[in-house]
Amino acid sequence: MTAKCTRCRDKAVIELRRHNAAFCKPCFLHFFREQVKRAIDKEDMLSPPDRVLVAVSGGKDSLALWDVLVELGYDATGYHIVLWTGEDYASDSLAHTQAFADERGLKLIVHDLKEERDFTIPELRKATGRSTCGGCGLVKRHEISKAAADLGFDAVAIGHNLDDEAAVLLGNVLRWDAQYLSRQSPVLAGDDGFVKKVKPLYRLTERETAAYAFLRGIDYQVEECPLVAGNTQLRYKAVLDAIERTSPGAKAAFYQGFLDHGREHFEGSDHVELRACASCGMPTPNEVCSFCRMVEQVDKSRA
Ligand code: AMP
Ligand code: ZN
Repeated sequence: MTAKCTRCRDKAVIELRRHNAAFCKPCFLHFFREQVKRAIDKEDMLSPPDRVLVAVSGGKDSLALWDVLVELGYDATGYHIVLWTGEDYASDSLAHTQAFADERGLKLIVHDLKEERDFTIPELRKATGRSTCGGCGLVKRHEISKAAADLGFDAVAIGHNLDDEAAVLLGNVLRWDAQYLSRQSPVLAGDDGFVKKVKPLYRLTERETAAYAFLRGIDYQVEECPLVAGNTQLRYKAVLDAIERTSPGAKAAFYQGFLDHGREHFEGSDHVELRACASCGMPTPNEVCSFCRMVEQVDKSRA
């Protein structure tokens, strides 16, 4: 690349068309941290004394997130769920996460579904009729929220980036799903027994988190989940990428525009009374939460 760094005029290592900018390594790392700081400030996500539980998969986004939160001075503990979507994939995900934590002396909590819940993700589809990714998402949300509540963390941080959030938004808009639109936010307030949930990478693209992880020397799991093929979100991402290629900045404008003047129109569409799940105690609008109902279905299908 012959471009010069927009900040210091040194030789650039990455060009960001959507910002009409190019950066050398130190200036890109600075840019990345500033974007995370801006996300945290703008959306009122965290304050320094907070104890944060970071959901880490072993992939580029969540390891980059953990790295940047520690760099910014947050007390951040990792939480990794062994989902068993594939034997090799599971041990590889854990190995990358564990190595990252060990090299930096960070605390990591490992939650193995097989050992602690006696089921794995591939079993869910047959037992419940849910899509694999849908069931997996429910498991991840429940397990991390429960761990954070039980262990008294102030916030949960998730590695969703701009591409993830824009793809979810596109899906919600295509169905004009008012309930989901009212809830779609880079920060979900902690109330009714839920710990606050934040997505500090929402201003950064997948390509930018990959570049950050690479430039920081983070050894992340490159391989995709073996069960992800055909996932709807991947198709929405491809559509948004196609638009972004000819209109740099369109993805960010789509998502940021929704945050700035779209979501307010949907507020209140999701108001539901919550109570404690009769089985696990987590907040739910029903007698028993969706996670516990899913576990019951798995048990039934085995009986
Ligand atoms: P995904 O659903 O795979 O796109 O992942 C979105 C985010 O969920 C990641 O950035 C992580 O913060 C979190 N996550 C995904 N997989 C795991 C896992 N196995 N354990 C803990 N957190 C995870
Ligand atoms: Zn429950």
